[in-house]
Amino acid sequence: MAANKKLLILPGDGIGPEVMREVRRVIDWMSRRRAISFDMEEGLVGGAAIEAEGSPCPDVTVEKAKAADAVLFGSVGGPRWDSLPFDQRPELGILRLRKDLGLFANLRPALVLDALVDASSLKADIVRGVDIMVVRESTGGVYFGEPRGVETLPDGKRRGFDTDVYHEDEIARVARVAFDLARKRRNKVTSVEKANVMQSGRLWRAVVGEIQKAEYPDVELENMYADNCAMQLCSRPKQFDVILGNNLFGDVLSDLAAALTGSLGMLPSATLGAVDPVTGKRHALYEPIHGSAPDIAGKGIANPLAQILSFAMLLRWSFALDEDATLLETAVAKVLSGGLRTADIMQPGMARVGTSVMGEAVVRELDKMAA
Ligand code: NAD
Repeated sequence: MAANKKLLILPGDGIGPEVMREVRRVIDWMSRRRAISFDMEEGLVGGAAIEAEGSPCPDVTVEKAKAADAVLFGSVGGPRWDSLPFDQRPELGILRLRKDLGLFANLRPALVLDALVDASSLKADIVRGVDIMVVRESTGGVYFGEPRGVETLPDGKRRGFDTDVYHEDEIARVARVAFDLARKRRNKVTSVEKANVMQSGRLWRAVVGEIQKAEYPDVELENMYADNCAMQLCSRPKQFDVILGNNLFGDVLSDLAAALTGSLGMLPSATLGAVDPVTGKRHALYEPIHGSAPDIAGKGIANPLAQILSFAMLLRWSFALDEDATLLETAVAKVLSGGLRTADIMQPGMARVGTSVMGEAVVRELDKMAA
């Protein structure tokens, strides 16, 4: 029997709590059938935390997250809080967790499952077999750089500005995550920047190259301008294994890679911190890439698979339970091959189901596979 693992669950807002309920079923199944026990705690984040505690990420949530081995995050935000000032909005909840836990490497897989090949907006023969991992730096760059702001000039006109800034150590640590991942996959990293027009991009290209030469000579490194990468993702996506980018380009390109797979409701992500040299542990947060989907919240029709697949990533990356992660991913693929679809991935001839029926189907498939 494996030792208990400390898990913090943050359902958040909108469809977050609905899809998290389905993960709970999977966790129950793992405890019963695979002898993996979790010490689970729930916490408040986003709009739910604003209502209860007056803050989108109360200190107590940060403390719980720091004490946990892994955090499973739902989604935050909704129209109810849209009129709040920028610095009080629910979305600040996830930004604070990333910053306070030092979660600098955001991993977003874009995997086209055979059963969903026709859900992509691109032709089936272009996307069939696509299996990309985008590694996005997530605590630096233009989303955090100073100075930033909007100022009014003497002539009364406004000027908005942000700063894209990277220290070479920030580039090196996220590059290592990408190279380590590539070694476990198809051994290729495509590093994207705009070294042709940006100084921080020049440094990015130089540092990634130095790290590869000194520490990962066995991994193939390709440098690509971010705009070219966007075009290549749409025309020849199968050339990519691991794509490495800064906060801004990683954000945009991972959404583009996600679009290749057909549905936001299918895509998980992980955000990892540095490995503690003493304990060997690292902070990590797992979340679907979709938001709180206020347009469908409360209707029981949200796709729970991105949240369930985020849990599979958690099993793999935080607890090295690769076999269980693969079991869960295979169960999801089999449910889809069997013809069940939530509304967002509905295709002709398939059976349309709601959130809880989809969650139950995954557990039933796990039962069959483990029988
Ligand atoms: P969204 O991802 O919530 O929704 C976009 C579209 O995809 C909607 O039509 C929605 O119904 C659909 N969709 C999303 N997830 C789905 C699922 N699991 N099953 C079926 N359909 C699904 O993005 P948005 O509409 O731009 O944002 C809504 C709110 O979520 C905003 O407040 C935004 O700030 C927030 N948001 C939060 C996060 C996060 O918590 N990390 C991420 C993105 C957006």
